Amino acid sequence: MRTVELNLDRGRRCPIHVGHGILDQFGSHCRQLELGRKVAVIADDAVAETHLPPVVESLRQAGFEVVEVPFSGGDGAKNLSTAEDIFGQLISAELDRGSWIAAVGGGVVGDLGGFVAATFLRGIHVVQVPTTIAAQVDASIGGKTGVNHARGKNTIGAFHQPRMVFTDTATLRTLPQRERVAGMAEVVKHGLIVDVELFQFVEAHVEEIISMEIGAEDLDWLIARNVEVKTAVVAADETEGGQRAILNYGHTIGHAIEAAAGYVTYRHGEAVILGMVAAGEIARSTGRWSAEDRDRQDRLLRRLGIPAGVSELPADRIVEYTKADKKRLDGQLRFVLAKGIGAVEIVDTIGEADVRAAISYIQDTC
Ligand code: NAD
Repeated sequence: MRTVELNLDRGRRCPIHVGHGILDQFGSHCRQLELGRKVAVIADDAVAETHLPPVVESLRQAGFEVVEVPFSGGDGAKNLSTAEDIFGQLISAELDRGSWIAAVGGGVVGDLGGFVAATFLRGIHVVQVPTTIAAQVDASIGGKTGVNHARGKNTIGAFHQPRMVFTDTATLRTLPQRERVAGMAEVVKHGLIVDVELFQFVEAHVEEIISMEIGAEDLDWLIARNVEVKTAVVAADETEGGQRAILNYGHTIGHAIEAAAGYVTYRHGEAVILGMVAAGEIARSTGRWSAEDRDRQDRLLRRLGIPAGVSELPADRIVEYTKADKKRLDGQLRFVLAKGIGAVEIVDTIGEADVRAAISYIQDTC
């Protein structure tokens, strides 16, 4: 098992354990955190069937009293009404301020469980047990929690750091292929923004990763390396005041595509793949990196799987959503653009003509 420490200000720290087939050790690791006896375990239905039994069993063996909280799952149910329903279950089960939450699942469960923990009784502890690539390399790390509102994704939430992240890479083997591809978009993003060795590793192994034929050692290395990337960025900028924004590579146009397609056509990671292709073209057309680097990125994304159908979305609609992007700064669009593989900069000077040209590029080539 590898452990990456996320060290934050005021002496706060969060250990992130990464290993293969480690769920049965979960309870004993929780014992070391001096948490209260009662724990509410939140998992969605798909994860409850596959990975929950060893988690619950190990908690009971370690002496915890487990309250299982069922959840249907899906981003559509990551909302205040579900949170309220869960609050009711926690009150009925008599959780108190010493009790805590274990969120077992993808980013939806992590965000929802984290949000409930951040707000129940003005805040109780949460431990994250991420089971998707997207959650293991991204959503479980950094303390962002929240739910959706009918008028906007992730609009209600709080920063609430987990006490521990417990990452079992073996859980990824049951993940549907589409979820693997979407999660790998974040991995390619991490390589592209700061870590050329990670990018090269994905170039060498992408098909094995997507098919999950990759060995346990390599899979652990891959996930742990991404955890290191994310923790380094978060430790430097916990509340996204500055440098943490580089994690938004591919998001300006990616978000716009996701929204323009009504949040139903694309998984978030799929939209980020398209957003990275677009950002790569803007970086080339504005002289930041070469056509060779752009093509190298595009080749890897093609092997990963570029989602179809973007040419059917009206370009004007994508542009409008790009303008509405919440990361817009004083009316100016904010882009994270590559200067090479493993190096990016934040740029506030990209105009609409460049955005339109990049949208044409993805509509012609993807
Ligand atoms: P998800 O949580 O919806 O999981 C995807 C699907 O995979 C679900 O159907 C789930 O039931 C299933 N699943 C999960 N683990 C499985 C496993 N091991 N085997 C089989 N099936 C499994 O999606 P996600 O991509 O993990 O997360 C997306 C969410 O994360 C969004 O709500 C997004 O807003 C949020 N997010 C949060 C942050 C953050 O910093 N907090 C960052 C990125 C994304």
